[in-house]
Amino acid sequence: MIQTIDLRGSEPTPAALLASVPRALTSVAVAADIAAELIADVRERGEAALLDQAERLDRVRPGQVRVPASHIADAIAGLDPAVRTAITETIRRVRLASAAQVPPHLTTTIEAGATVTQRWQPVNRVGLYVPGGKAVYPSSVVMNVVPAQVSGVQSIALASPPQSHFDGRVHPTILAVAGLLGVDEIYAMGGAGAIGALAYGVAGIGLEPVQIVTGPGNVYVAAAKRLIRGQAGIDSEAGPTDILVIADAAADPLLIAADLVSQAEHDELAAAVLVTDSPDLADAVAARLSVLAASTFHSERVTAALGGRQSAIVLVDDLKVAAAFSNAFGPEHLEIQTSDPDAVLATIENAGAIFLGPYSPVSLGDYVAGSNHVLPTGGQARFSSGLGAYTFLRPQQIVRYSRQALEAVAEHIAALSNAEALPAHGDAVTARFQ
Ligand code: NAD
Repeated sequence: MIQTIDLRGSEPTPAALLASVPRALTSVAVAADIAAELIADVRERGEAALLDQAERLDRVRPGQVRVPASHIADAIAGLDPAVRTAITETIRRVRLASAAQVPPHLTTTIEAGATVTQRWQPVNRVGLYVPGGKAVYPSSVVMNVVPAQVSGVQSIALASPPQSHFDGRVHPTILAVAGLLGVDEIYAMGGAGAIGALAYGVAGIGLEPVQIVTGPGNVYVAAAKRLIRGQAGIDSEAGPTDILVIADAAADPLLIAADLVSQAEHDELAAAVLVTDSPDLADAVAARLSVLAASTFHSERVTAALGGRQSAIVLVDDLKVAAAFSNAFGPEHLEIQTSDPDAVLATIENAGAIFLGPYSPVSLGDYVAGSNHVLPTGGQARFSSGLGAYTFLRPQQIVRYSRQALEAVAEHIAALSNAEALPAHGDAVTARFQ
């Protein structure tokens, strides 16, 4: 069911490696036109557009887009105790790891009386997207909200699709987790329209525009995030998930198959890739995948994802080529299941998050590892990173010079301003010494 690609005996370039397992056909670029229309509709018609879009795309018309406080309180009261305990532990762990992502302010003394300080300033207001289409993601509430809070963001708006099973309300577990984290500005809206609403604001419901929009979502959400850039910042395009496993003969095929299926159950467009130098392992994983895909809870979705052209078992000559393949692919999640994972890790450049050894599966990172599960997809790990407290922080340089320190460099400023034919620059300095 999953394709096998045999690259042994060839020396493919990174571009050829990448072309051998292309991403899914419904790319962010294809979804962009649809997302643009949905955003324009929200900008023009506000809440009415959001309600109409919910009716069409979520198959339910919410009573109102802004979630009343009583719905959040009801959700907290009804939260399953085991889920509450698990969420509390997840929050604790993600908070610990997020705190380590806030860099200290740093002052550099250039000369006596001349300093440049770099401080890390949070944005004031953010919009956090929590998916809720094919699956609902209370864990994504934690992954969005905790780093924002740790970074010092003051104002948080959270959006998640209305659920037809819950009378058009946001899923109660999402409401409960948001409530436990102290977030009370929540909107029942999903997809591209929600991303547009967060970025541009919706006057009729008191939704003020945000400065940064973060969070995972499907291909329409990812496309919308690309479109609102400039109006607001974003984290990365955290779209349909992907997993790449580098494994050798020492790995357990049952565990690898289980991990590939665990990500394939997110989305038909999810990519699950194994790269190995062991033909025996490849055969064993393929056999196990067939069994699991037929019996797993989301069998249809998993079968579609594993059977798509974006998923494959790739045979290579050695782990060096495996690492080269992974670097070209830029996986969202990379698992290294080899006899010496650290040796492979040393050759990895591009990955959203990296999971080492048999006891660090991606599912751990999806929930309670402490790491963040909002990660760049579609190969964007080649140039961007996962969500973290740093996403909400901007470095700002603060310059402080004394009279003497400025006087010491005045002639350099004059020389450079003359060289650039901008003499008023030099004059602004000499004026201080006349
Ligand atoms: P979602 O909330 O992202 O999408 C649902 C919304 O999509 C709906 O509310 C609707 O507005 C819109 N939509 C659905 N069909 C549409 C259509 N035909 N045209 C236009 N808009 C449409 O929830 P989901 O669908 O469950 O997707 C969640 C995604 O998030 C999955 O792909 C999963 O892999 C991904 N994910 C990624 C990460 C990450 O960090 N990369 C983490 C968690 C989840």
